[in-house]
Amino acid sequence: MLPKASTAEHHGVSIAPDIPASLLTALNSCRTLPSIPGVVLEVLDLSQDPDIGTAKVAKAISRDPALVAKILKVANSPWCGVRRDVTTLNQAVSLLGVNGTMSLALSFSLIRGLQKAADSHFDHQKYWRRSVISATAAQSIGMCLKSPNQDECFLTGLLQDIGMLVMNEAVPRYGQLVASSGATHRTLIETERRELGTDHAQVGTWFLKKCGLPARLTEAVSESHRKERTSENALGRFALLGSLIAEIWTCPNTAEATKKAAEAAWKQFQLSSDQFSLVLAKTAADLPQITKNLDIPVGDEVFINGLLDQAREAVAELNLRALQEARHFAVQAQCDALTSLYNRTYLNQVLNDQFDVSRSMAQPLTVVFIDIDRFKDINDSHGHSAGDAVLVSVSEAIKSAVRGQDTVARFGGDEFVVLLTDTGEDTGAMIAERIRQMVENFPHLTGNGKKVDVTVSVGWATLSSGSEYSNSTELLGAADRSLYAAKSHGRNRVARDVSRAG
Ligand code: GH3
Ligand code: MG
Repeated sequence: MLPKASTAEHHGVSIAPDIPASLLTALNSCRTLPSIPGVVLEVLDLSQDPDIGTAKVAKAISRDPALVAKILKVANSPWCGVRRDVTTLNQAVSLLGVNGTMSLALSFSLIRGLQKAADSHFDHQKYWRRSVISATAAQSIGMCLKSPNQDECFLTGLLQDIGMLVMNEAVPRYGQLVASSGATHRTLIETERRELGTDHAQVGTWFLKKCGLPARLTEAVSESHRKERTSENALGRFALLGSLIAEIWTCPNTAEATKKAAEAAWKQFQLSSDQFSLVLAKTAADLPQITKNLDIPVGDEVFINGLLDQAREAVAELNLRALQEARHFAVQAQCDALTSLYNRTYLNQVLNDQFDVSRSMAQPLTVVFIDIDRFKDINDSHGHSAGDAVLVSVSEAIKSAVRGQDTVARFGGDEFVVLLTDTGEDTGAMIAERIRQMVENFPHLTGNGKKVDVTVSVGWATLSSGSEYSNSTELLGAADRSLYAAKSHGRNRVARDVSRAG
């Protein structure tokens, strides 16, 4: 191991790249280090401006003709869905939004500034493919966890391995070292630490600081390769998980990569396997357009979705023994003790996530609210424990009316809620009615074997492209209102929300 250089200071922030003195000398004297284009620094500066608007962004971008051409091309692509030609930069920025434009400008300029023709050992194509998938995944995680700045998640994902490009210029045998280090990124880091006494996260941090990037980004890059959960730096942790998710699409063993990423998702963010699957689905859905916008070929939709399917299978089969205990407690906290359905707290969380994902993927989401009719009478006539038995059999009836992947929860008392993902109004109406019939025809027995007639009233509401619900509470409230209508029209019936639907 080589002697270490003294640690650097950085405005009180604890980023101190740990680089051997000889390598630092090689880096400082290297004349071919990549450079961060000026427009990137300018746009980053602008992103901190509280009064940022379309005009300021357009002005910053207008000095770079290639960037202007790119932004206009994306604004005119079918993805934006505009029928009229977009001919001015101001129109394009309004269409893509200030944040969307800045994100595109940053990633496109960075890639353009740093991309190089192939060299003999270092596989640039593979590098960029991996970086773009990591960035897309980091952004999906940011979305799932409601990060206020999902564009920075993307940028950190894109920048986190920049140290590899830097090392490739300064260390003559670096390309060979990468090629011989094995399939995963973790083995590369271990090889770098063993052979060079540092890793590319450290070198990347040194480089980005030298280029004058803001501390929040350099710190995130520095933290992005920590294995343990010691960092409070959320951006860095998004990038770390993004890079593990990228291996699902870049490493030969998809199942193994999925397992590692799912474990990290649990350890770092307590993402359930459902939430993890949502992140994968969102990443796969966004990749084709992002790679088209940035001109980095990742593979066609058949390839992307084929590996997504394999990853989903791996998630379903995961036997995370080490996590079983933690999961056991977490599951208990999510479940209702009597019926074993999800409880209201968990429902609210999933509904919130599902609402955002459905909206961003332009998929419908139907919420069904169910309440047992005259349940008090059942308690009064047959006793409280018979009432309990009915709550359990109603739960069974509801579950048997829906798909395994739908979320069924006990909302409280004799109320239940079902979330039907990717389900529009026609199917939603059909399933709501199927639930009602299933409960009516189910053999409900009291504890001592006596049969009880049970019916439910059902209300439902659907989030679709035409509906106007702005958050999950509004959607749930609409389903509740519909239930109220079903009750007041005589019970044992289904009603839909007509007030806000499209
Ligand atoms: P409606 O048709 O208007 O819904 O009439 P209802 O009698 O069902 O009225 P409501 O929904 O307000 O009554 C719910 C009852 O459920 C009241 C409460 O005593 C009973 N309940 C709530 N939780 C439990 C439980 O865990 N076990 C039992 N056995 N009863 C419960
Ligand atoms: Mg009731």
